[in-house]
Amino acid sequence: MFMSEKKELKVKSIKNGTVIDHIKQNRAANILNMLNLPDDETPVMVAINVESSNMGKKDIIKIEGRELSADEVDKLVLLAPQASVNIIRNYEIVSKHNLQLTDEVIDVVKCSNPNCISNSNEPIQDKFYVQSKEPVLLRCHYCERTMDFEDIESQF
Ligand SMILES: [Zn+2]
Repeated sequence: MFMSEKKELKVKSIKNGTVIDHIKQNRAANILNMLNLPDDETPVMVAINVESSNMGKKDIIKIEGRELSADEVDKLVLLAPQASVNIIRNYEIVSKHNLQLTDEVIDVVKCSNPNCISNSNEPIQDKFYVQSKEPVLLRCHYCERTMDFEDIESQF
C-alpha cells in the first residue's frame, strides 16, 4: 500500500517525566530493565518498532513522573547510542538531549574478566575505550578484554 503521508504512531503525551526517543528498534526492553521498570507505580508507555524518518524503525519510552539520573543516562547511552532524552514538565519539553557516546567510558560498567586488575581490590576506576558505537564494543584499558552489548546489558 502506498502511503503519501508520513504515518506516525500517536502516543499519549505525559505531563511530567521523561521521553526517550530514537531508541534502536527492539531495545526498549533492555532499557526498561536498566531503569528497573515496570514497577508497581510508575506509568510507562512503550512503543516498539514504530516508523522513524531517519532510523527506519525505532522504539520510544515515555515515563510519567520520573527524570533520569546522570548515572542512568550514562548507562542509556551504551544501550541506545542514538537516543534522545526529553524532559517534560507540565506538558512542555524543557530539555532535549541527544545522547553522544564519547571515546572513553569511565566507571559505568565493570570488566568481565575476573582476573582484570580493575576487579581486584585496588582503587582503580573502570575504564574502557569505545571500539565501535553500533553495535557497541568496549575495550578494557587494563586487560584489553572486549565487551559487547550482551556483556554490558547483563550488568544493568
Ligand atoms: Zn579488564
